[in-house]
Amino acid sequence: MIKTKLLDKYADARAEMILLLKERGIADESVLKAMSEVERHLFIPLPLRNHAYDDAALPIGEGQTISQPYTVAIMTEELHVKELDKVLEIGTGSGYQTAILAAMGIRVFTIERLPGLLKTAKQVLESLNVRFVSKMSDGTIGWREFSPFDGILVTAGAPEIPKPLIEQLKVGGKLVIPVGSQDFQQMKIVTKVDENNRCEIIDKADFKFVPLIGKEGWHEDDSR
Ligand code: SAM
Repeated sequence: MIKTKLLDKYADARAEMILLLKERGIADESVLKAMSEVERHLFIPLPLRNHAYDDAALPIGEGQTISQPYTVAIMTEELHVKELDKVLEIGTGSGYQTAILAAMGIRVFTIERLPGLLKTAKQVLESLNVRFVSKMSDGTIGWREFSPFDGILVTAGAPEIPKPLIEQLKVGGKLVIPVGSQDFQQMKIVTKVDENNRCEIIDKADFKFVPLIGKEGWHEDDSR
């Protein structure tokens, strides 16, 4: 016990983060367990590590962020996935969300458009022996080769729901995606109800994400 604490000086801070997530309404035990196991500080640039367990988004370079722990928790909970399910994540960023899904026993396929971020994320994930499949690409068009997915998680804000992502979901599967302007987005929980790509959509709270940039997202020259 003492040895574990010495090795993990952030253990208390992580336990406090889990308490806060419970207070904010996160109830899925598999999500809470994964978030209590994965060391968020390892996904954060060294100078900011003392803030790793604050309930805040933090910069990870290239103008991008690692999402706030509450956001990671609620999005993962809303996916309603279980061990061995196949999930596509759009926006690898730091790799933290990838590690959370993998810790839940999910088969994770993750796409990032910025090569520098993907390289760093892969190094961290591989050093932790996390199992995942990744590629550098435009995630707005999905990853047809590995579809259909049990769930799709988009960790950047979209102007609208990208059609290819609906097509690549299993019937009954959920797409969790923030949709709105570049200033704020509403979290949408999209459930595919039949093979004709009909969906039920539930709107959740407002969030603020970095933009989803790509063919079916914002374009590089869209004004902010
Ligand atoms: N899931 C990340 C984590 O745990 O750190 C958070 C990622 S950050 C909020 C959003 C990421 O989406 C950024 O790294 C950004 O480069 C990426 N992104 C934006 N548009 C994308 C696209 N079309 N395809 C793939 N990644 C994209």
